[in-house]
Amino acid sequence: MFKKILVANRGEIALRIQRACRELGVKAVMVYSEADREAKYVKLAEEAVCIGPAPSPQSYLNMPAIISAAEVTDAEAIHPGYGFLSENADFAERVEKSGFQFIGPTPESIRIMGDKVSAKQAMIKAGVPCVPGSEGELPDDPVAIRRTAKSVGYPVIIKAAGGGGGRGMRVVHTEAALINAVQMTKAEAGAAFGNPAVYLEKFLQNPRHVEIQILCDKHKNAVYLGERDCSMQRRHQKVIEEAPAPGIPRKLIEKIGERCVAACKRIGYRGAGTFEFLYENGEFYFIEMNTRVQVEHPVTELISGVDIVKTQIMVAAGEKLPFAQRDVVLRGHAIECRVNAEDAYKFVPSPGRITMWHAPGGPGVRVDSHVYTNYFVPPNYDSMIGKIIVHGDTREQALARMRTALLETVVEGINTNIPLHRELMVDAKFMAGGTNIHYLEEWLSHHKR
Ligand code: ADP
Repeated sequence: MFKKILVANRGEIALRIQRACRELGVKAVMVYSEADREAKYVKLAEEAVCIGPAPSPQSYLNMPAIISAAEVTDAEAIHPGYGFLSENADFAERVEKSGFQFIGPTPESIRIMGDKVSAKQAMIKAGVPCVPGSEGELPDDPVAIRRTAKSVGYPVIIKAAGGGGGRGMRVVHTEAALINAVQMTKAEAGAAFGNPAVYLEKFLQNPRHVEIQILCDKHKNAVYLGERDCSMQRRHQKVIEEAPAPGIPRKLIEKIGERCVAACKRIGYRGAGTFEFLYENGEFYFIEMNTRVQVEHPVTELISGVDIVKTQIMVAAGEKLPFAQRDVVLRGHAIECRVNAEDAYKFVPSPGRITMWHAPGGPGVRVDSHVYTNYFVPPNYDSMIGKIIVHGDTREQALARMRTALLETVVEGINTNIPLHRELMVDAKFMAGGTNIHYLEEWLSHHKR
C-alpha cells in the first residue's frame, strides 16, 4: 500500500478521498487554491499545499503545480477525483512519467474512452450494445450523410466525438435540416473541443439514463456493482440518482453488467469506471464511459457495502480485488440528492457565506459535504456543496428517509436547491419510479412558483 497520496481535487470529493486514505492508514496530502484555504479537508489535513490562485486553470487544472506538490511532499500516487484533470489522458501520462501512480486507468484507456467515436467502436467490438448510428465519424460527402441518416431513421442526433458535459449535440428531425446541422455541429465542435469530428445516432425519444459501475484490478479481475438510475436531470446534469433502477428486471441488468465486465477485460481496464447507457423499451444502448469515480458513487456503496474509493486506491497499489462477482450482494435501495448552492428553481448560482449549516442524521442517512457553518462558498467552481444519500430496505423507506433528512437540513446565508428536492420527493410520478430523462425538465416547465 502507498504511504502517501496527493489528492488533486477540491470540495466534497477531496474530503471523501481523505476519509478513504485515513481508513487505509495512508497519509493524504491535500492541495488547495487560494479560494479554498478554509475548506474542511484542508483544516483537517496533516499536510496541505497551495497550488495557485482561485481560477481553476491556475490551480486545479495546473499540471506542473500539482506534480510539483506531489514531488515536494514525497507522495507516491495522485488521486484525481472527478472533473478537473480526472479524465485528461495527458495528465495521467505526465503523472506516471514523473514517477507517480495515477489512481485511475491507463492513459491509453482514458484516451480511447475520451473520444466518443473510438469508445463506441471499442464497445461494438466488445459486444456492448450501442445506439444505432453511423459507423465511426461522419464523412464530408452529403450524399453519404443522408444515406446514413435515412437508414438509421429520423429523428437523429449529431454528436461531437470530443464532446462532454452535455455540449456538442444537435437533434435533427428531417432530412431538409440534416446537412446544415452537421456543418454547424462540426464548426462548434472544432471551436469548443479542438476536434471537428462528429458522428450520428438515432435520437431515442423517451429513454432513461441507467449506468453500470465497474471495478477492475491490474490482475485481469473485473466486477460490476449493479446499476444506477440517473434519469432525473436538468440540462444533461444529474440532480437525483438512485440504485437499483426501479422496475428493470435483474436478468437484464446481469446481462448488461456481464457485457461491461467482458469489455473491461478486453481493453485491459483498471480502476473504477462507469458505462453510461440509455435504456428504452427493455434495451440498453451505450452512450459513453466515464473513466473515474463519479459524484453518485455513494448510492452504489450503500447497496453493495463496497467502498469504491478505497478499492480504487487498493487496486492502484497493485492489490487484487478483495471480492469476486459472486460475492457482490446488493441490498435495499439508495437515493442521492445533490445539494447545490443555487436558486432552487431559477438555478442562478448562489455563492457566499453559509451562516448556518445543519446536516441531517439518523438511520440510513449519509452526508458527504465539505461545508460547515461560516464556510464561504467560493464563486469560482461548480455549485455542488454536498450530497445527501439515504439507504432503506425498500425504495419507499429510502424515500421516507430522504424526506426526513431534507426536512432536518438547514442551510442559511445562501440559496440551495433543497426546496426543489423536497418537492420532488413527494411528486407522484417520481415516487412511482421509472421517470425518463426529460421528466425533470418537463416538471420544471409546468412548475408554479
Ligand atoms: P456528455 O458526455 O456531454 O454527457 P452523452 O453522450 O453522455 O454526452 O449524452 C448526454 C445526454 O444527452 C444523455 O444523458 C441524453 O440525455 C442525451 N443523449 C445523448 N445521446 C442521445 C441519443 N442518441 N438519444 C437521445 N438522447 C441522447
